[in-house]
Amino acid sequence: MSSARSDGCPACGGKGWLVMFNTDTRALELQRCDACCLFQSDEAAREHVARSPALQAEVEKAFGPSATRGQSENETGGHNMTKTYLVGVREVHFRYYKITAENEEQAKDLVHKRGPEVEDIEFSEFSHECDRETWSVEESNA
Ligand SMILES: [Zn+2]
Repeated sequence: MSSARSDGCPACGGKGWLVMFNTDTRALELQRCDACCLFQSDEAAREHVARSPALQAEVEKAFGPSATRGQSENETGGHNMTKTYLVGVREVHFRYYKITAENEEQAKDLVHKRGPEVEDIEFSEFSHECDRETWSVEESNA
């Protein structure tokens, strides 16, 4: 840590800056690497990058995938661009009704109509999960 050399910094790879996800602004941001502190501030790191077209291209590449596509969960870009999702798993349950009938078919018919003679015994039993194609998924802002 006494030397200013940062080639060995595991956090930034010696660049002194990183493209990070800012949890406050929910946007990607160029920040200095706090592990090696090669730059005095985020601002200094941004100025350094802004002076070099090669570095700017590298930053744009880092911004690119998540800024334009954003949906790919398997991005191996190194930064953690994850989102929170609500996934609705469609489940099938058996719900039991009691009915007096002459045979099984009639019993099903009567329950299908939900007549007054049908007693909902308010008991259900999990059967199985439906195929994942039937599930719902949405981004959660919580
Ligand atoms: Zn570093």
